[in-house]
Amino acid sequence: MAKETMQFKTELEQLLHLITHSLYSHREVFLRELISNACDAIDKVRFQGLTEPDYLEDNTNWKITLRANEEAGTLTLSDNGIGMSRDDVIENLGTIAHSGTKAFLARAQEADLKENPELIGQFGVGFYASFMVADEVVVDTKAHGNEAIRWTSTGTGNFTLDEIDKTDRGTTITLHLKEDAKEFLNEWTIRSTVKKFSDFLEHPVTLITTQKDEETEVEEEKEEQINSQKAIWLRPKNEIQPEEYSEFYKHLSHDMNDPAETIHYNAEGAIEFKALLFIPEKRPFDLMMNNDPKAHLNLYVQRVFISNEFDNLLPGYLRFIKGVVDASDLPLNVSREILQENPQLEKIRNNLVNRILKTLAQIKEKDFEKFSGLHEEFGTLLKEGLQSDWSNKEKIADLLLFESSTKEPGEKTTLANYIENMSDDQEEILYLAGENREQIANSPYLERYKADGQEVLLMTDPIDDFVIPQLMEFKGKKLKAVNKGEQDDTEALKEEEKTYEGFIGFAKELLEGVKEVKLTTRLKDSAAVLVGDEHTMSPHIEEMMRRMGQPVPEHESVLELNPEHPLVQHVQALHAADANDPKAEALTKILHDQAILASGAKLKDPAAFAKRLNQLLATD
Ligand code: ADP
Repeated sequence: MAKETMQFKTELEQLLHLITHSLYSHREVFLRELISNACDAIDKVRFQGLTEPDYLEDNTNWKITLRANEEAGTLTLSDNGIGMSRDDVIENLGTIAHSGTKAFLARAQEADLKENPELIGQFGVGFYASFMVADEVVVDTKAHGNEAIRWTSTGTGNFTLDEIDKTDRGTTITLHLKEDAKEFLNEWTIRSTVKKFSDFLEHPVTLITTQKDEETEVEEEKEEQINSQKAIWLRPKNEIQPEEYSEFYKHLSHDMNDPAETIHYNAEGAIEFKALLFIPEKRPFDLMMNNDPKAHLNLYVQRVFISNEFDNLLPGYLRFIKGVVDASDLPLNVSREILQENPQLEKIRNNLVNRILKTLAQIKEKDFEKFSGLHEEFGTLLKEGLQSDWSNKEKIADLLLFESSTKEPGEKTTLANYIENMSDDQEEILYLAGENREQIANSPYLERYKADGQEVLLMTDPIDDFVIPQLMEFKGKKLKAVNKGEQDDTEALKEEEKTYEGFIGFAKELLEGVKEVKLTTRLKDSAAVLVGDEHTMSPHIEEMMRRMGQPVPEHESVLELNPEHPLVQHVQALHAADANDPKAEALTKILHDQAILASGAKLKDPAAFAKRLNQLLATD
């Protein structure tokens, strides 16, 4: 096969440009990325070999080797992992496979990357970090049963592919270091970087150095292992330093911050496993845009890495958790598909979920401020659990924070706190969902409760309106949306209803999208309000769905009028005096329009509203 030159995919070119032009600090992370990849490659082939031994070809002395060549100015990293076929190379080193990357590129400014080069790793583009330190990178690789391939690039525009002689499976990456990156040829720099980032890796990382024998002047190679290889999750907790946890977390997550919380425990009894889990401090960039709402932990069986693709180890709503689970009782020599079905996994999963929810509850008790920060980042995800994890619904609900009508903006309360503050005769947990605090805090739906001094939870996370109704109740108290459903005290209005009967019939006939018009005690200062059924979506959610181009089911609402309000009384009187009075008609429409606006929805015909209003303003 002749040498071939190929073009990088556009996004990749953009990314490479950012990498080569903006990253000067923290450059040592390239070594972590390459060693991590090498380690993954070894894990992959070892796993494959469990069911297909011919993959291994006796080349199973698992090892990652570094070699610095001062004369040539190159740093070389070799592994005997799975290697890549020609197609793999094109796919893996010529495009960006990860969905979040494009969105990331659209947002990441050069300045951001300068400050936080580790962002690169979050997007699974770690290999390209090589171009932070190298002006040319050569990858020699061979996969089982495939020809060996050389990939070469200077990180601009294109790369070349060539067939080479390489007989052993695995990958060797040679970095031609930039003038200002020659420090990475220094033995001590390499040692300390590996120690920092990769000490705990399960596979040995060795360094080959060349030394001249002082007497004979003969050059000799010396190979030495430079990581301690102690799987951190197997070590006793009290012997592990916080920095060690932190580095391991960064290795797993590519996060640049320390974890907010580390959960390290051994489960014993019916199921035995060791878990080391981390709650990040911040929500990873791509967590919400990711189309794959699944959680991925690294599963090991007796220290052998199996996969990070088991999505049944943790439910999707806990996908912000990173970590490792090492199980003792799972079978090793079965395919991934069969293992995925193993009933032990469900037991492990229940145990992990319990432990995570319990830890979050403890943080909430001990350090509310820290918990608020976590809730800010992950609260929306936890709420997904109300829908999907019925057995833990109450525990999850207990972790949720909300603003409330009796508290300052920004101040949060819990459902449990809300119940504590309820008066003896209050039976329901009241809430109102809407777009933002300013809008709902002044909403007519709250008027009566404000006047009575009753607390109403204010929910402004778009997901609230979908999931809170499914919670139904908390600690035996029903949840009730104050903009939905019936009012209890209709008795009080019997007298007024007689007076309003004619006008109500007229309004119902006149207004579109209104299935019923009735009087209410819900309001104090406002004239009118729209109320949906218990099961209809809130107007602001409908509005949001429309903006996203989603179909919104048509439904009719109830228009409730406040008979104590002068405008309502005035329109009723106009209509009673002359059923055909055009002013009564215009004012009735305006009452309806106002109610639509106050509900957080949009008017179907705002121009007609403005016109009606102007006409009325001009006539008096
Ligand atoms: P990530 O490792 O997050 O997937 P990278 O850009 O670092 O992203 O690598 C892209 C892909 O290239 C990897 O997913 C892997 O399939 C392949 N790859 C990288 N390094 C190696 C290696 N040493 N051996 C085999 N495959 C590799």
